Amino acid sequence: MMISARAALTGSYDYGEVARSILIAIAASYAALDLAGRVTAARGRARALWLAGGAIAMGIGIWAMHFKGMLAFRLPIAIAYHWPTVLLSLVVAALASAVALYVVSRPKMGRVQVFTGSLVMGGGIAALHYLNMSAMRLAAVCRFDLRIVILSVVLAIVFSLAALILAFDLREVTKGTALRRIGSAVVMGAAISAMHYTGMAAASFVSTAVPPDLSHAVSVSPLANNGLAIVTFLVLSAAIVTSSVDRQAEAAVRRLNEELEQRVVERTRQLEAANQELRREIADRQRVEDALRRSEDYLRLVIDTIPQQIWSGPPDGSLDFCNAQWRSYMGLTQEELQGEGWQSMLHPEDKERVLKAWRESVLNGTPYEQEERHRGADGQYRWFLARGVPLRDSTGRIVRWYGTNTDIEDRKRAEQSLHEAQAELAHVTRAVAMGELVASIAHEVNQPLTAVVTTSNFALRQLASGTPNLQELQEAMKEIVEDATRVSAVISQVRALLLKKGAPDRVELNINDLIQEVTVLLRNEAALSRVQVRLDLAADLPLILGDRVQLQQVLINLAMNGIDAMRTVNDRPRKLEIKSEKHADGVLIQVQDSGIGLDPERADRIFEPFFTTKPQGIGMGLSISRSIIESHGGRLRTVSRSQGAIFQFILPAIGNSASENSAA
Ligand code: ADP
Repeated sequence: MMISARAALTGSYDYGEVARSILIAIAASYAALDLAGRVTAARGRARALWLAGGAIAMGIGIWAMHFKGMLAFRLPIAIAYHWPTVLLSLVVAALASAVALYVVSRPKMGRVQVFTGSLVMGGGIAALHYLNMSAMRLAAVCRFDLRIVILSVVLAIVFSLAALILAFDLREVTKGTALRRIGSAVVMGAAISAMHYTGMAAASFVSTAVPPDLSHAVSVSPLANNGLAIVTFLVLSAAIVTSSVDRQAEAAVRRLNEELEQRVVERTRQLEAANQELRREIADRQRVEDALRRSEDYLRLVIDTIPQQIWSGPPDGSLDFCNAQWRSYMGLTQEELQGEGWQSMLHPEDKERVLKAWRESVLNGTPYEQEERHRGADGQYRWFLARGVPLRDSTGRIVRWYGTNTDIEDRKRAEQSLHEAQAELAHVTRAVAMGELVASIAHEVNQPLTAVVTTSNFALRQLASGTPNLQELQEAMKEIVEDATRVSAVISQVRALLLKKGAPDRVELNINDLIQEVTVLLRNEAALSRVQVRLDLAADLPLILGDRVQLQQVLINLAMNGIDAMRTVNDRPRKLEIKSEKHADGVLIQVQDSGIGLDPERADRIFEPFFTTKPQGIGMGLSISRSIIESHGGRLRTVSRSQGAIFQFILPAIGNSASENSAA
């Protein structure tokens, strides 16, 4: 019995169990490859979790394969297992798995890493195997064939090396990796099994009578054995499913990412294109702005250099721009001229009129035009013609005012000297007219003077008689006074007409009085020329504002022309009619004769200076008369007629005042 007790025990394998253990090895390998991919893909905390979970699942797989392989080995005696050792082997398997996963999930796997990794992993698996062997509690002694043990360890390391390389290659998810992974898992599973069964083959058992130490030992019932396989598969499946879900999620995220990146790229391209366009537009705009600035500069240069004062301002009538010409004329800056600053240069006598006219223009939007004096930088005033026009938008609203000031000082001076020359000429013509009238005026004066002498002689005789008739004497004296007064009146008229010179002086006049005064001077001339003078004067004429002497001159000119025109007329009565009548604009005065009249050709030229048809004429009478009437705001014209001529002029009335004074 001793011998039999020490007899070598022949083991046998339960091939179903062996197959299951190989399946577990393949499943564990597949899970390992899958998990390697996850650990690689994960970052930070997730990576640590994947590493830990993966190591546990893979550890369980490797361990279960070994343990299952051990259970597949049958001996004719009962075998129990020391469970703390078994548990320790499980920990070793998990640690070896952790190292393996760590190594293959690094971005790079160099020679040193891969060799160290395979040493640790291979060593771990070998340790797991022999730990499991040593956990066996049975009534037998286990002997190992050292050569086969070494072979099994070498195999474990070599297979680990191969597994690491495969796992490293297959960790990234690419097309076709699933199939290759399954193939690799089969190869790896087979290799692990081969290592295990080699290790098993190294052991031989010799039975002893010594009962095994069964403290902390358990025997594995068939139920537990199957449970172990199922749990292992569950764990590995869970690991694979989790990793697959995670992989798909990651793939989805990656796809989304890629899509997003694609979009970002697309958008970036669009933005780049838009940017390009924008840059081109900016460049174009810059060019346009440059051109605009150049043309603005040019315009400003033109505005500043043309010999004209130019201004402009907003619709409210203030001023916000004056060109250099105006600024330098006044010696003021743009700021000083701004707003209402420009008004300081207006002549005090013009200021009220100018501002009133400007306010009216601004209010009504009508063009502005005034002659006004502006003070220059030298303190001297010069005359300017100021003009302004409103610029309107499409709706007719005033947008701005633009205007110019034209220096008309020279023109004004010329006008002034022309006026003076005209006044001089008027004086001369008056003198000429008086010269023509001298004979008749002498007669006009002579008549009352003769009467004065006669009456005075009568008075003297009365006084010398000693008994003067006082009544008669008084009558005589009265006559003398009347005659002398008449003479005095004529003389003063002539004096006024001859001496009047210089600026016109305007007074309120009743035109009828004027006509009668002139008639006194003409009376004798008319009588000598056998001309009948008739007055037709309207009552209730409004007063007019005028220069007495100038208007008398006009009437004398017209009347004398009429008398002249009738000198050759013998076939009809020679009639001169002077008429006044009320007119819508004031008073109309008409001088009409029955003389030779005006043929159309002559009528066109009679107002020209120096046009005359008379041998002794100078041709200035009508020209001067017309300018006198125009300076009174009226107009002198002829009216065509079959026999004789008609001259008419209208003088504006002052307000609505009418004269009570009338005479026929
Ligand atoms: P003047 O009397 O020195 O010739 P005016 O200017 O007074 O100068 O007149 C110019 C010319 O107009 C006269 O020479 C004459 O031919 C013509 N004229 C003026 N008044 C009359 C008139 N009433 N009838 C016809 N011709 C006239």
